[in-house]
Amino acid sequence: MPGLSCYELRSEFPELERGVVYLDNAASTLKPRRVVEAMREFSYRSYANVHRGVHRLSIEASKAYEEAQDVVARLVGGSWDEVVFTRNTTEAMQLAALTLAYNGLLRGGEVLVTAGDHHSTLLPWVRAARLGGGRARILPLDGRGVPRWDLLDDYVTEDTRVVAVGHVSNVTGAVAPVEDVVRAARRVSALVVLDSAQGVPHLPVDFRRMGVDMAAFSGHKMLGPTGIGVLWARRDLLEELEPPLGGGGTVSRVRLKGGSVEIEWEEPPWKFEAGTPPIIEAVGLAEAAEMLMEIGMERVAEHEDELTGYTMKLLEPLYREGLIRYVGPDNPGERHGIVSITTHLKSPDELGLLLDRKGIAVRTGLHCAHILHDHVGASTGSVRASFYIYNCKEDAERLAEALEEILTTRR
Ligand code: PLP
Repeated sequence: MPGLSCYELRSEFPELERGVVYLDNAASTLKPRRVVEAMREFSYRSYANVHRGVHRLSIEASKAYEEAQDVVARLVGGSWDEVVFTRNTTEAMQLAALTLAYNGLLRGGEVLVTAGDHHSTLLPWVRAARLGGGRARILPLDGRGVPRWDLLDDYVTEDTRVVAVGHVSNVTGAVAPVEDVVRAARRVSALVVLDSAQGVPHLPVDFRRMGVDMAAFSGHKMLGPTGIGVLWARRDLLEELEPPLGGGGTVSRVRLKGGSVEIEWEEPPWKFEAGTPPIIEAVGLAEAAEMLMEIGMERVAEHEDELTGYTMKLLEPLYREGLIRYVGPDNPGERHGIVSITTHLKSPDELGLLLDRKGIAVRTGLHCAHILHDHVGASTGSVRASFYIYNCKEDAERLAEALEEILTTRR
């Protein structure tokens, strides 16, 4: 299988014409022309609200929206009715957590999260556990900020109801051993919920085959627009569970009976999509998913692994001289698509600003993972470079040269 050509792909991304070296992909990726065009075309020709009318525009829009659910499902190995569109990963995680709490599935039990998880996973589950009459248990980290997966069997007990963990860390790039997580959870009939915000955009994923029960991800981290995320969940779970949020679109019939309101819920996924959903965004996300499937997710993953390894090789002299330290594994084979560093010479923000002056966009700060940063002794944060399909080796070279210049020039 030939690798992907980052050079050919670059012309699809007009923002790169500004000459910026864009290495902030874990925060948000750039948008290709075809995604913007698909949204524009749909907005000008077929836009209307969905599932609410018999007129042709509403029917066309509903068809486009359902097709978007189907395309996204194909990317992650599910069926269209398992794809609930939300606003982003954060909202998808809240929806998953609140649904289980609302249905009493957390009462008296434990939700296992890791100390390295993004706040968008950590906070919804810690709070839902409290709300649902249960408690959260936290899997600790090793010295590199990677969860102690070796302790999984001790932390997953008969009390565990849910294991909610990150698929790929947005700080260290470490990939979770999902097979082991699923095996441990199955032993006690707990559900596995995956924060795949950094998984789906970068790795081949088949949630059903992986044995995952629910998973969340965001459109804007995978070439799609902002304002749309996905909660993927097994169809039987969506069927069985009552949604915590009600409203337009979630019900097939509402009646007043004996002074109380009786609700007949819609079929999944509608019963979980309260109010008007992100319709134009769904069309954009489907185009993005199509593009990723055309490129091939194996190729995407391989390309990012190559760039990660190449970057760390280029940074080797700075690392050996003690000018930089990695947050996460030192071994490139243990991280995917993300290189986060700290230096005693500059604060993360200062370094980020100096890189920006050289036309390099990285993310600085605590990356919504405060506990992880505190744990590895980087409580002011780190500088994160993260790659995507349009980054080429030259981007890694520009980053390494700039870092060397900034960190070795005496002032
Ligand atoms: N989880 C991880 C691992 C992330 O990297 C992010 C985004 O930074 C999120 C969750 C939250 O994504 P969003 O802001 O799109 O809800």
